[in-house]
Amino acid sequence: MTSSPQHKEHHGPLCGCNELSRLKLDFRAYGTRFRLFPQSPLLSDYQNPETVWLSIRPDEINPGPSDKRMYVADAVNKSHYEDPFLPPYRGQLHAPALAGSDGHFDHLEVGTHQFEAAHMYGTLRWVLDIWETYFERTIEWSFKDHYDRLELVPWLDWDNAHAGYGFIEMGFGLDDNGQKFPFNLNFDVLAHEFGHTLLYSVIGMPDDDNATAEFFAFHETCSDLVAIVSLLHFNTVLDHLLIESSGNLYARNELNRIGEESSTRQIRMASNDLKMRNVPDPGTPLEQLSNKQIHDMSLPLTGALFDLLVEVFQHNLVDDGLIDAQLDELSRGLVEHTGDELQVQALFDEYYAQNPDGFKKALVDARDYTGLLLSLSWEQLSWDLNFPQVVHSLFAADLKLSSGHYQQEIAEVFDWREIDY
Ligand SMILES: [Zn+2]
Repeated sequence: MTSSPQHKEHHGPLCGCNELSRLKLDFRAYGTRFRLFPQSPLLSDYQNPETVWLSIRPDEINPGPSDKRMYVADAVNKSHYEDPFLPPYRGQLHAPALAGSDGHFDHLEVGTHQFEAAHMYGTLRWVLDIWETYFERTIEWSFKDHYDRLELVPWLDWDNAHAGYGFIEMGFGLDDNGQKFPFNLNFDVLAHEFGHTLLYSVIGMPDDDNATAEFFAFHETCSDLVAIVSLLHFNTVLDHLLIESSGNLYARNELNRIGEESSTRQIRMASNDLKMRNVPDPGTPLEQLSNKQIHDMSLPLTGALFDLLVEVFQHNLVDDGLIDAQLDELSRGLVEHTGDELQVQALFDEYYAQNPDGFKKALVDARDYTGLLLSLSWEQLSWDLNFPQVVHSLFAADLKLSSGHYQQEIAEVFDWREIDY
């Protein structure tokens, strides 16, 4: 494909985060442009979408958007899928999103059906690009025996969002004024739901009669991690996060407030201080638990994996001489609320000012390590997993990935959460 003048305009800082990555995540030479909101545009810091490049070429994307892996069905007045009502959707559709004359989708206007359809497609396609890079292979859909492609429904008049067999569909959340706000513009919700689709495709669909609560809790955790790791691919998020926190990621920040719908309410919280004693026992039979209890069961595991990402980042900072080991130690006290928050923050502010680029590189490395670690660990698991097997698969993945450089961090985060292995 020849490069248009617009192409050149977008070179430079826009994809800076992926220039720092050792992995092939920079698709500007041949890919297609979309504009995505890194966080809900209801948040004042994220009112402008960021341009991202998908790996797919303009000539491979059709109106909708659609391609050979997924397609938008922008349904009019559809109710949500529920067995036996399943894809494909055959009812009335809104006019599809069309590429601009240059083949890209970054010309669509915010506030239109077409922008929202392209936002949903662009987000899921990009998250797929990111995770197929980590997996180093094409992910085959779990539903491939029945459907060739994943169906995306951007809007339902429904206060929820879900991923099911062959589809992902989005409803709405309420903003601070009680107004409906479409989840199709919420990166975290989209990436979380896609996390479920990805996991079913990698570790398999559970056997209906034998699926455990532990399996569903694991699914919730890993879908959150898919959202967190993917979010860190936005250059604006990396910069904003580091500038706001000076790299003190244990403090409350946008990375651990995932699924944020407004500045004050969150759907989930990745940075929590829950231990296994605080949540339902993983061995509890599935039929005795509510969805909320299964979600609660996932929180120590989510917290452990979030802590691991931060620990790896701080380990990288110490390795690179960007912070000293004493600050690394002090900041850990914040997890148990025993540390001196102001002292820790002041030290981070001082160190970060000395080398902001070094901090960014360390965070990109921690992000990619986490993505690769999770991919390798999921390749070893099947749907009849339990938490100890999950932890063992992480130790094994780290041995393969870093020759065991982070074994101690893995042990510490799971010990602290009282997750046995
Ligand atoms: Zn979920």
